[in-house]
Amino acid sequence: MPGTLSFDALKSRVADGTIDTVLVCLVDMQGRLMGKRFHANNFVETSYNETHCCNYLLATDLEMATPEGYASTSWRSGYGDYVMKPDLETIRLVPWLEGTAMVLSDVLDHHTHEPVPHSPRSILKKQIARLEALGFEAKMATELEFFLFEKSFDEIRKEGFRNLEPISGYNEDYHILQTTKEESVMRPIRNHLFDAGLPIENTKGEAEAGQEELNIRYDHALNCADHHTIAKHAIKEIAWQNGHAATFLPKWHHDRVGSSSHVHQSLWKDGNPAFFDPSDRLGQSDLMRHYMAGLIAYAPDYTYFLAPYVNSYKRFAKGTFAPTKTVWSVDNRTAGFRLCGDGTKGVRVECRIGGSDLNPYLAQAAMLAAGIKGIEDKMELTPATVGDVYEDAKAQDIPQTLRHATETLRNSAFLREAMGDDVVDHYTRAAEWEQEEFDRIVTDWEVARGFERA
Ligand code: ADP
Repeated sequence: MPGTLSFDALKSRVADGTIDTVLVCLVDMQGRLMGKRFHANNFVETSYNETHCCNYLLATDLEMATPEGYASTSWRSGYGDYVMKPDLETIRLVPWLEGTAMVLSDVLDHHTHEPVPHSPRSILKKQIARLEALGFEAKMATELEFFLFEKSFDEIRKEGFRNLEPISGYNEDYHILQTTKEESVMRPIRNHLFDAGLPIENTKGEAEAGQEELNIRYDHALNCADHHTIAKHAIKEIAWQNGHAATFLPKWHHDRVGSSSHVHQSLWKDGNPAFFDPSDRLGQSDLMRHYMAGLIAYAPDYTYFLAPYVNSYKRFAKGTFAPTKTVWSVDNRTAGFRLCGDGTKGVRVECRIGGSDLNPYLAQAAMLAAGIKGIEDKMELTPATVGDVYEDAKAQDIPQTLRHATETLRNSAFLREAMGDDVVDHYTRAAEWEQEEFDRIVTDWEVARGFERA
């Protein structure tokens, strides 16, 4: 891909003056880029090797609060440092910022230089390594849905997030006329990301006013998560550069459709699609059936990694295309899992549960762990569901609230075995904290409902 740079290529661009800034980033628990802006000379001379950050970066909430209760860091332990180790395979141009390149870092313990277990990138790498030990490679694609708004982030914040006006006035699903009107934002998103080395497939209007979707070609799971994170970041920055705002909040208004992030998954062996069996009616191999059985059986355990906030659960409503049941179906958009590309080499499973706020490293890691469990235990896949899955009383529900998903995470013996107790305890604390913060707040809805009438 154009846009990705070797370290030597970066050095020559720094020498000829075309790059003067290098963003050194880690991915935090919320899937955001955090880090430092280096003068490019300093980066290529010394900091390419390592730099440091406060270890609270993997223990904060969205607002950078420092909740108590994490074993890894605290006021008591003095909030020490982590090592940020740039992964030089991830150097790329940032074409929407002048003279700028970016590199993603792994997060290492300051003393031992071992990967920090609860760092999202290392969580995904661990599951990829387990899968490789079984002889397989995972390829994934995450669809990114989001809303564009008329006004900028700053205007919207100053107005208290009220009277939000999406960029368009009507449902723009596949709508060429309406999306033409949004090309001043969407065309630079596609082109800048392509020039940054992301294999962009397309953008399209989605099924609500102002709703957009970006599709990136499927890739090795770690690349897919890196691409998702960079794309989400770029969408916000490019929207901001154009005087608009983009939100990945899964449900920004109760009367509007929510935003999701569907995850397409397939396993490969020696470059061949291991999910495909031409002799099967749907083209599913036994391996695929075991993987899907694990994915479905353990969905309640890992729902938190697909829906990490109180708001995430507002998306799971009947009749909205957001699934509520852990069943699979062939090309049916009401099920939690959809078989796509049936009968072809492109046969794959799409998980439709995740919201646009998921952290792709955590979501993919949890689903790989479930799939691996299905393969190891040779789990049996039940037959596909047909018809309106919302009305299927026998189908297993996913947790409907953050509170419930926190408990299924905490009590998941499978995730504790696959990811480690430290990881499960760390994210269980993050989940609890979200709920504690929400429970403390008096909402506009309660005041309007009860102020006079209660
Ligand atoms: P649809 O239009 O029905 O959503 P697409 O053909 O656009 O389906 O595919 C959706 C996503 O699936 C794309 O991002 C694509 O890159 C990805 N994809 C295609 N084949 C595979 C595969 N074998 N494994 C994982 N993802 C895949």
